[in-house]
Amino acid sequence: MRPCPTFLLVLLRWVRLRMCARRWRYSNGNNSRLPLCVRQRWAYLKLMVNSLYYNSLTNSDVIMDSLMEPIFWMVDLLTRWFGSVFVCLVVILTSSILLIAYVGLLPLILNTYSPPWIVWHIGYGHWNLFMIVFHYYKATKTAPGYPPTVKNDIPFVSVCKKCIIPKPARTHHCGICNTCILKMDHHCPWLNNCVGHFNQRYFFCFCLSMTLGCVYCSISGRNLFLDAYSAIERFKHMDLDKSGVPVTGMGQLIGILPPGQSTYQTPPPPYTFRDKMFHKSIIYMWVLTSTVAVALGGLTIWHAVLISRGETSIERHINNKEAERMAKHGKVYKNPFNYGRLNNWKVFFGVEKRSHWLTRVLLPSGHAPYGNGLTWDIYPIRKDMIPV
Ligand SMILES: [Zn+2]
Ligand SMILES: [Zn+2]
Repeated sequence: MRPCPTFLLVLLRWVRLRMCARRWRYSNGNNSRLPLCVRQRWAYLKLMVNSLYYNSLTNSDVIMDSLMEPIFWMVDLLTRWFGSVFVCLVVILTSSILLIAYVGLLPLILNTYSPPWIVWHIGYGHWNLFMIVFHYYKATKTAPGYPPTVKNDIPFVSVCKKCIIPKPARTHHCGICNTCILKMDHHCPWLNNCVGHFNQRYFFCFCLSMTLGCVYCSISGRNLFLDAYSAIERFKHMDLDKSGVPVTGMGQLIGILPPGQSTYQTPPPPYTFRDKMFHKSIIYMWVLTSTVAVALGGLTIWHAVLISRGETSIERHINNKEAERMAKHGKVYKNPFNYGRLNNWKVFFGVEKRSHWLTRVLLPSGHAPYGNGLTWDIYPIRKDMIPV
């Protein structure tokens, strides 16, 4: 009995379909031999694991940030703990320089300098000191500004994922303060405070006046430093040239001094203890002030550049990325908070008339900055300020 051709055709097609289906299942890693309930649970488990980290915005930056998160957390924690230590360090080091200036240098200036130079040193030195103390105190004690936590109608650009509150423009979260900061620039460990909308001027003026003070000490103390350094060097050589004492000083330690010279007569010391302390203090002052002048001077110049551009330190990175992104599309990014170099400085210092350059810039002033740090419509206040 011959099989029906139609039956054979259907059988062949069925076998082929089964093989294709099996191949497809294996190629997709789906093992149909497992019971349905096991496969369902496996699929549910996979979905649950994926849901823990899946994000449509996930990229290499997010993954790197997540991996670095423990390190950031540790740095934030240490910075928070050592905040008071850094502030004490600033106070102690500044006080030590003041002590040297008042006890060591001031009598010297009064006894040896001409009257015009005495007036200059006393006048400038005290103005600079007052600027440093005033701005440091205000920078540490003034709150940088925080966004409201209650419901409001203030426009916002995003939501802080840590505070779970709306973030107005220029607001960023500080991991060390653990709160959002208005117009945040950075967290300064030397102030143990964030630099934000309400204390940025104090911070910058402190940096500037401290740099000027260090440059002043460094320049005016240069000759004294050279004298003190050569005096200390001379004193060292005198010590080493004493007769009967080996150059390395080991003779005194192991008792091989020549006979009859164990109690040799030493010449009277050329410098008293007071002289030596004075020389060492001058060297300490010059080295410290010169180092701070270079380091803090660089920071001050960097912040001056940022202020000229109408940016904060954080916005500098954001704006650079935005400029690169827009350049790929053939567009030019414009910072909406840049009103032109001179106007940026006027906004920063709160200069509204010419006399303010004296009363608000050259002299200590406690006036509040423009705006509330929540909205940035400065144009109604200053009609001539148009973003460039
Ligand atoms: Zn926040
Ligand atoms: Zn902070």
